[in-house]
Amino acid sequence: MRQYNINLDPKKIPDAWYNIGADMPEPMAPPLHPGTHEPVGPNDLSAIFPMGLIMQEMSPDRYISIPGEVMDKYLLWRPTPLRRAYRLEEALGTPAKIYYKNESVSPSGSHKINTAVAQVYYNKAEGVRELSTETGAGQWGTALSIACGMFDMKCTVYMVRISFEQKPYRKSLMEAYGGRVVASPSNETQIGRQFQADYPGTTGSLGMAISEAVEVAATSGGSIKYSLGSVLNHVCLHQTVIGMEAKLQMESVGDYPDFVIGCCGGGSNFAGIAFPFVQDRIAGRSKVECVAAEPAACPTLTRGPFAYDYGDTGKFTPLMKQYTLGHNFMPPGIHAGGLRYHGVASTVAHLKHLGLINAVALYQNPCFESSLLFAKCEGIIPAPESGHAIRAAVDEALRCKESGEVKTILFNLSGHGHFDMTAYDAYLRGDLQDYELDEEVIAQGAASIPIIE
Ligand SMILES: *Cc1c(COP(=O)(O)O)cnc(C)c1O
Repeated sequence: MRQYNINLDPKKIPDAWYNIGADMPEPMAPPLHPGTHEPVGPNDLSAIFPMGLIMQEMSPDRYISIPGEVMDKYLLWRPTPLRRAYRLEEALGTPAKIYYKNESVSPSGSHKINTAVAQVYYNKAEGVRELSTETGAGQWGTALSIACGMFDMKCTVYMVRISFEQKPYRKSLMEAYGGRVVASPSNETQIGRQFQADYPGTTGSLGMAISEAVEVAATSGGSIKYSLGSVLNHVCLHQTVIGMEAKLQMESVGDYPDFVIGCCGGGSNFAGIAFPFVQDRIAGRSKVECVAAEPAACPTLTRGPFAYDYGDTGKFTPLMKQYTLGHNFMPPGIHAGGLRYHGVASTVAHLKHLGLINAVALYQNPCFESSLLFAKCEGIIPAPESGHAIRAAVDEALRCKESGEVKTILFNLSGHGHFDMTAYDAYLRGDLQDYELDEEVIAQGAASIPIIE
């Protein structure tokens, strides 16, 4: 009998997150203060983050234990299933073995709640009463609203105006979980009013919403802190529970991946599935190839320079060394909203720079095509973001079909697509465009990358 689902005994969930910062073969460039361009210290960040998370952000420790109260929440959906996609393998006619880790089974329907519960816990432990954040398509705002509800905290979500207007049910979902949702740019913040004056009629952007949420925390006198759903070291750290579980699950069936694939927006779910395997590669224990799959319409890792840049349009955040398309880059309106970020996590960027991971850029039509094949075989409608990981996995499997090699492929299904049916609808009608990004658009974004001596 085939074993499709490879489950893990809940007692075997890793009791610590893995911090890849401890194993980098060359040190990472430090984040810099946006004003002075000096390396930031813990105190520079304390206005917007609690010290518990700042310490994780800068930690030299290889493992950081998962607090009991966070584990208690994790147990609601973790360990997540690892599945051997026999049916997808057969449909492709590939000799490759395909496994995927299914993060879509969480309460928010994506991996994001793995860090949301941890962030809320550390804020609550320091007496913070409310969190402010941004959301694009609504995945992060939903995860944080759920987590705040679990810990009896207040949550205000600045939602990019275009999504707020076009996706009213995403807003309702956050409200149902107790979050307060504000269309961004709003009149609630000084920078929000500034954006509206500078860009009349703007439909907003993630970069603008971040600026608003940061301002609210920075001017609150400590009662409100800011929370970010990707990019930062501590966020990637919290997601490593995904890859650590997957490793144990693969071990239990005597397998180990040749390829580990994740879609990449800010980089956190890719980091989550990949970093525990990159650890083996750095230690010389494996030759695993980790691949970050990004959209061709927002090709940060494949076309951006490796440079210092801000995380937001308002230039409030520290300067972080990363691959970037420029903090003013405006990606075309593709349906994988979670992948439309101009930059990427410093850790992911550093590993790419060192040649320890790879990246591919994919068009959205082929991603939807593989997503529907996946849905037919596996019974799950993937998030359009996750569709990029599926496409990259399918491409590897098809290469194996040509060469006859029996490679083992593992990818992360970062979320389900139940709230993305308008995107599937557009695909099925043949209305989806594959944007060829003009050099001009790339050049405009690149012009906003600061020159740091
Ligand atoms: C937000 C999101 C992503 C992209 O974010 P990362 O930090 O790169 O993981 C990917 N998949 C889903 C389902 C998301 O909600």
